[in-house]
Amino acid sequence: MIGSVALRSGSSGNCTLIRNGETRLIVDCGVNGKTFTNALALAGESPLDIDGILITHEHSDHVSGLGVILRKYKIPFYITQKTLEIILDSIGKFDYNLINIIRPEDKFLIKDQPVTSFQVPHDAAETLAYRFETSRGDITVCTDIGSVSQSILNQLTNSRLIILESNYDSELLKNGPYPRILKDRISSGHGHLSNDECGDTLCHLVKTGTEQIVLAHLSKENNHPSIAELTAVQSLEVTGAVKDKDYVLQVARRYSNSDWMQI
Ligand SMILES: [Zn+2]
Ligand SMILES: [Zn+2]
Repeated sequence: MIGSVALRSGSSGNCTLIRNGETRLIVDCGVNGKTFTNALALAGESPLDIDGILITHEHSDHVSGLGVILRKYKIPFYITQKTLEIILDSIGKFDYNLINIIRPEDKFLIKDQPVTSFQVPHDAAETLAYRFETSRGDITVCTDIGSVSQSILNQLTNSRLIILESNYDSELLKNGPYPRILKDRISSGHGHLSNDECGDTLCHLVKTGTEQIVLAHLSKENNHPSIAELTAVQSLEVTGAVKDKDYVLQVARRYSNSDWMQI
């Protein structure tokens, strides 16, 4: 069994399970212990079987449950030095033997699973995305991006399954209730990726081999699942790619498990 399921997605908490045979990894831990356990159970998994947790960055929607989960389940975790230093005081006591320091651009193994990390311009100390190589193609988790440069596009290219940020609709953000400073931060290129930017990225990716897409980390105020999906599907239509023929797509759910994506 090789694939992924987003257990939670968005500013209220992010947590994604990657499974490759008997290796089970979690990207981000922005959920409490109870949600973590229940969401995994719903996916047919146990926290006791998780081989590692990979942290993308220090924002609370990605690390809020980490301390509790480390204490309860003693799962090794992977994090950059800079990100660790920021969260260390706030996550409480845990066994420091669980820490595995990685560099922003790194290749490493967790059990037999090759993982590549790469940095994205989101406004945290050192935000990472992760790519997992499998015998059926690669799975990449890339949320909280900011913007997609050519080098990031290269890192994403050829992923069979991509979990990609589609954070906001530009019109909803522009006309929405957020203060100007927050609107500017989100759309600055160091904040979040818009539906249009996500669509443009997907056009390149589907042309170069991506078959499965999860739109992730949608804004509650400045987006809607149907708008995000429509934007992606319409962008891809321009390139001749048709949903359910050339690719499958789902929008990750905020408060419940998304559908399992098998590759
Ligand atoms: Zn986030
Ligand atoms: Zn963030």
